[in-house]
Amino acid sequence: WDTHYPFNATGPGANYQTVIHGKKNKPKACFVSLVRNKEMWDLAKSISSVQDRFNNKFDYPWIFLNDEPFTEEFKKRISAIVPNSQFGVIPTEHWSYPDYVSKERAAQTRQDMKNIIYGDSESYRHMCRFQSGFFFQHPLLAGFDWYWRVEPSTELLCSIDYDVFQFMQDNDLGLGFTITIHEFQKTIPTLWENTRQFAVEHPEHISEDNLLKFISEDGGDTYNLCHFWSNFEVANLNFYRSDAYMDYFNFLDRSGGFFYERWGDAPVHSIAASLFLPRDKLHYFSDVGYHHPPYNNCPFDDQIRAKGKCYCNPDTDFTFRDYACGKQYFNAQGLEKPNNWKDYSK
Ligand code: GDP
Ligand code: MN
Repeated sequence: WDTHYPFNATGPGANYQTVIHGKKNKPKACFVSLVRNKEMWDLAKSISSVQDRFNNKFDYPWIFLNDEPFTEEFKKRISAIVPNSQFGVIPTEHWSYPDYVSKERAAQTRQDMKNIIYGDSESYRHMCRFQSGFFFQHPLLAGFDWYWRVEPSTELLCSIDYDVFQFMQDNDLGLGFTITIHEFQKTIPTLWENTRQFAVEHPEHISEDNLLKFISEDGGDTYNLCHFWSNFEVANLNFYRSDAYMDYFNFLDRSGGFFYERWGDAPVHSIAASLFLPRDKLHYFSDVGYHHPPYNNCPFDDQIRAKGKCYCNPDTDFTFRDYACGKQYFNAQGLEKPNNWKDYSK
């Protein structure tokens, strides 16, 4: 397809390596949940679901992160569900204003954006910035190559009988997702402009085999708002630690857009993965039944649902709805959509 300047620049893209540890080649992987003390019960539900539907078989450790210290109560209740867990506090530098950002302008923005979801929230902005640029630098994640993000109030709707991390590692994948969706334009007025400027300055970070087509309908002139919903994300941490990603995050952060607008980590991750990774490093987990309010990824293939003992109604699947970006993803990857996809698009 036709790609326009500056995205027609072809470079190697993100360059990173995963060290294969140990004889058995078991991935160095963990679950990561960023969470507040007050979300303890909603989190308990999510991690029980992941333990029961997947991790009781595979026993990967969990890391819980918070901008405040976790309470004793929180640690006690949560480690009763996942014994193999660690609790970390986020360094202040990763959850505060950089010195070049004006707090006055940030406060004015929150005022101006009060009719947009989370538009008036200061903590939400710190959260999105942390999830964009810092979680993978937390000392508790230092020894890990792979992570799976789990949020409060989410559920796995089917059992997963294979090792998802092993699958990621064996196939040398960068990022896996379950749900795609459009972003609210009003939260990211200048994100695309900044991305284009970054591409002008760093053509070497744009992969030759990128997935630009997923995020742009016009060869890169405009952003179509499509992204991978980041509340579920399985990814190679070394991608985030790569020069390409770090240069991109630092470039974005410098512009102040995390505070002067309301940039989400999901579009940031997704744009980066779509531009800097060869597209065969992205993976849609169509078989993973997943719920984050208010949307479901529910496999509508009867056999997959039976095999996974799913309890979701396939009519609730979000993948091919207009507000999702399943169509864009399948087209961009050159994948054939399931032949009955239209039955699940209304
Ligand atoms: P939404 O999914 O975009 O509606 O946002 P959530 O409220 O689910 O927040 C996204 C993730 O960040 C969840 O895992 C929350 O628990 C976490 N989170 C959001 N705000 C804060 C915060 O101020 N402190 C901490 N520690 N976690 C937060
Ligand atoms: Mn959430």
